[in-house]
Amino acid sequence: MAMETVPKELRNLRACLLCSLVKTFEQFETDGCDNCDHYLQMKANRDMVYDCTSSSFDGIVSLMSPEDSWVAKWQRINQYVKGCYAISVTGRLPAGIVRELKSRGITYRPRDTSVKS
Ligand SMILES: [Zn+2]
Repeated sequence: MAMETVPKELRNLRACLLCSLVKTFEQFETDGCDNCDHYLQMKANRDMVYDCTSSSFDGIVSLMSPEDSWVAKWQRINQYVKGCYAISVTGRLPAGIVRELKSRGITYRPRDTSVKS
């Protein structure tokens, strides 16, 4: 991920609702989510990018060495690729996608910390 492109395209940034990876809309559309595309298939699918990412998120942590970062463990992102991750993502994955994940053995935990459930 080219860090120098981030400030210019700040308005286009979106966070993945499943893993909280932050990239631009174009990056999600071109490459999908680096962690979740196997499940979410956002690549070349604008509708899925809209459904599975959110433009509303709080705080960004930069993940440099996932293996030994306590922040990564705390954010449950220590299995993920290096990059920028949102601390809180507003919104939820559509119910159909949550069911699909469940059928593959993945329990979806919303990353929206602003809502008490
Ligand atoms: Zn993701």
